Amino acid sequence: HFEGEQVEDDLVHAVSRIMAHADGARRLRVRTNADTPEDAARARRFGAQGIGLCRTEHMFLGDRRELVEKLIVAEDEDTQHAALDALLPLQRQDFIEIFEAMDGLPVTIRLIDPPLHEFLPDLTELSVRVALAEERGDVEERDRVLLRHVRRLHEQNPMLGLRGVRLGIQIPGLFRMQARAILEAAADSVAAGMRPRPEIMIPLVASVRELELVKADILAVAGEIEEARGVTLDYSVGTMIELPRAAFLADRIAKEADFFSFGTNDLTQMAWGFSRDDVEASFFARYFEHAIFDVSPFESLDQLGVGGMVEMGTKKGRKTRPDLKVGVCGEHGGDPRSIHFFDRVGLDYVSCSPFRVPVARLEAGRAVLLRRADG
Ligand code: PEP
Ligand code: MG
Repeated sequence: HFEGEQVEDDLVHAVSRIMAHADGARRLRVRTNADTPEDAARARRFGAQGIGLCRTEHMFLGDRRELVEKLIVAEDEDTQHAALDALLPLQRQDFIEIFEAMDGLPVTIRLIDPPLHEFLPDLTELSVRVALAEERGDVEERDRVLLRHVRRLHEQNPMLGLRGVRLGIQIPGLFRMQARAILEAAADSVAAGMRPRPEIMIPLVASVRELELVKADILAVAGEIEEARGVTLDYSVGTMIELPRAAFLADRIAKEADFFSFGTNDLTQMAWGFSRDDVEASFFARYFEHAIFDVSPFESLDQLGVGGMVEMGTKKGRKTRPDLKVGVCGEHGGDPRSIHFFDRVGLDYVSCSPFRVPVARLEAGRAVLLRRADG
C-alpha cells in the first residue's frame, strides 16, 4: 500500500525486495532464450543467469539466406565449401558478440535447426524465378530451379523432415563450421581477457548414434583449435530432448551428453500429434469446450504426458550420469504453472524469453516457498 510522493521509489524498493526474497528462496536457475547480443544484454538486466537457448538458424536469415540456400541445394561440394567458408567468419563474429554480452555466464548455443521450408524460396518467389527463366528462354535454369527446389527439397511435413541433427548429418561440413565458429570465437574471447562458457547443443536427436557422430566432429574441431591457439577451452556438448524417443532412451543418450535441455515445444507437438504452427486452429475451441484441456498444451505444460517424459528423461539421464545438467528451453520455461512442475521434478534451470525472466525468477522462488509452507 503506497501513498504520497514516494510512490515510485517505494514501489521500486518493494519490487526489489520481493525479487530478492524470491531469488534467495529459489532452487532453479533462470536463463534466457536469446539469439542476439541486444537480447542477451536485456535479459541480463532482468537477471538472467546465462543463455539457455541461442537459436542459430535465425543468424542465417536476411543477407545470409542466399549462402544457406546455396549450401542446402548445391549438388557439388565446391559450392558447398565456398558457402561454408563465407559463413564461418560471420558466425564467429556473431558468437564473439554474444560471449561479450554474457561474459562469464554459460551460453548454450544450439546448432542450426531450420525447418527447411524457411530457407527455401516460397512458391511465389519460385514461380517468379521460373517465369523469368522462361522469359529469357533459359530452359536449363528453369528446370534446375524446379528440380532442386520442388522435387528434391520440398517436404510435405517440414517439421518432421530434414531438421536439426538430420541436416547436420546430411551436410557434414555445416555443424563442423558452426562448432569451429563457436570455439574460435571462444578462443578469441579468452585472448581478449573474457571467460566464455559455450555449451554446444545438438537439436532433434532421436538416437545415440546421431549424437556420437556429431560429437566426434565437435571434439576434433575443439582439439585442433586448442592446439593451434595454445588454450584450454571451457566448453561442453549436450543435446536437446525434444522427441519422445530421446526421452525414452535418455539413459543411453546421457552417456554422450554433458547436459540435456528439454525442447517442450517440439515434445508437445510430437506427443500430442498437434502441429505447433497451427495451434490457433478452430478445433482447439472445441477442445476447451469439452474440457479435454483447459489451456493449450503449447502454453502451459501438459504435466501428465509431456511432463511425464520430462520427469522420466531427467531420472533416466541422471541414473547414467548423476551430474547431468538438465534444463528446459521450450516456451514453457517462462510459464508460471510449468515452472512449478520443473522445480518439483528437479531440473537445474529454466530458460525463457528476456521479458519473462523476472516472472520466472518469482515463480521459481514461490515454488520453493509454497512447498515449504505445505510441509
Ligand atoms: C523446442 O522445441 O521446445 C525448442 C526450444 O526448440 P524450437 O522451438 O526452436 O524448435
Ligand atoms: Mg525444437
